[in-house]
Amino acid sequence: MLANLLDYDLEGLAGFCDRLGERRFRATQLFRWIHQRGASDFDAMTDLAKPLREKLRGVAHVRALVLSRQHCSTDGSIKWLFDVGAGDAVEAVFIPQDDRGTLCISSQAGCAVGCRFCSTGHQGFSRNLSTGEMVAQLWFAEHFLRRHLQREDRVISNVVMMGMGEPLQNYSALLPALRVMLDDHGYGLSRRRVTVSTSGVVPMIERLGADCPVALAVSLHAPDDALRDNLVPLNRKYPLAELLPSCVAYLSYAPRDFITFEYCMLAGVNDQAAQAHALVDLVRTANGAANWCKFNLIPFNPFPASGLAASPREQINAFARILSEAGIVTTIRKTRGDDIEAACGQLAGDVRDRTGVAPRMAQRRRIMMHQVDDGASQAQEG
Ligand code: SAH
Ligand code: SF4
Repeated sequence: MLANLLDYDLEGLAGFCDRLGERRFRATQLFRWIHQRGASDFDAMTDLAKPLREKLRGVAHVRALVLSRQHCSTDGSIKWLFDVGAGDAVEAVFIPQDDRGTLCISSQAGCAVGCRFCSTGHQGFSRNLSTGEMVAQLWFAEHFLRRHLQREDRVISNVVMMGMGEPLQNYSALLPALRVMLDDHGYGLSRRRVTVSTSGVVPMIERLGADCPVALAVSLHAPDDALRDNLVPLNRKYPLAELLPSCVAYLSYAPRDFITFEYCMLAGVNDQAAQAHALVDLVRTANGAANWCKFNLIPFNPFPASGLAASPREQINAFARILSEAGIVTTIRKTRGDDIEAACGQLAGDVRDRTGVAPRMAQRRRIMMHQVDDGASQAQEG
């Protein structure tokens, strides 16, 4: 079987080249061809000796994902649906802004955590993506966009692991993928511009801090264990009394950073004033003050099976006010690509009608791409 070179960080590629009897600088050249120039054809890599190119052809390839659909939003966002085989599909979304370009990446097909408000969670877990499948989303998006926008410089400046799946339940594949993103010979993204979002896999938060302290976003969604147990079932394993200290400890690996708490606003469930005050107490108790974290309030994107409703805008604003008056930087996520989200539902229908795929597959394809943190989330009003 051919090795997929997207599976390797630079260290891994150096090991691979070493096994072929090639020197380390060859790995760097190869890595730069693949990630910086978007090459997949060894013959195009003209500064590699011909015998090496021939050797590579026999043992390796650069395996792109199979693209099934692309949707362009009127606001400039682009969503890609990739077929990862066996009826599974994952998505990546590009969100352009004035000063940055953010790509949201998936880490798993489905998710085992099963959060009540998340349609990926409702689909169940199918499988982990490989390092190469995560990197391939960035590789494809970056080089597609350069061609599409006719740009030679970098288009994607930020990556958020906020697509399908729980990245910290796929840690061994995630870590090399992050290293490819950060590597100066790869995408050269700064540590603070790569965000891992987690529902709270406590031991892996600590590991990530030690191994690769990128920006951390923690999906909190509730101020107490009783409610969080219900919304984010992983809380039963890693309750708030473990989660909050692990967030504080993460900052020792990432000095001068903030932890971002994501909080999906669910009408009548977690959006009451008393719950905002309880959140303030929770973060103060954990670290003596409130200014070590930020809150990002996410308007809930409803889907029928959830049985949940989105908080009214006024309620979200009032909630944000309480947090910010307590000294916590609070933003309300701006929703982007609404029109392509709508198209996503149609897409599922489309695929089913045209191919007659099994309902399970059609359902998997009806992926809800989480509203992506576009980074410019507007400050709360009022
Ligand atoms: N598994 C990770 C990362 C993927 S989910 C995590 O849970 O953090 C990315 C973000 O999308 C999370 O904050 C999640 O709570 C949010 N999200 C999931 N479903 C949503 C929905 N229906 N509406 C709004 N946000 C949602
Ligand atoms: Fe999984 Fe995140 Fe969805 Fe929860 S919110 S089910 S952890 S993808």
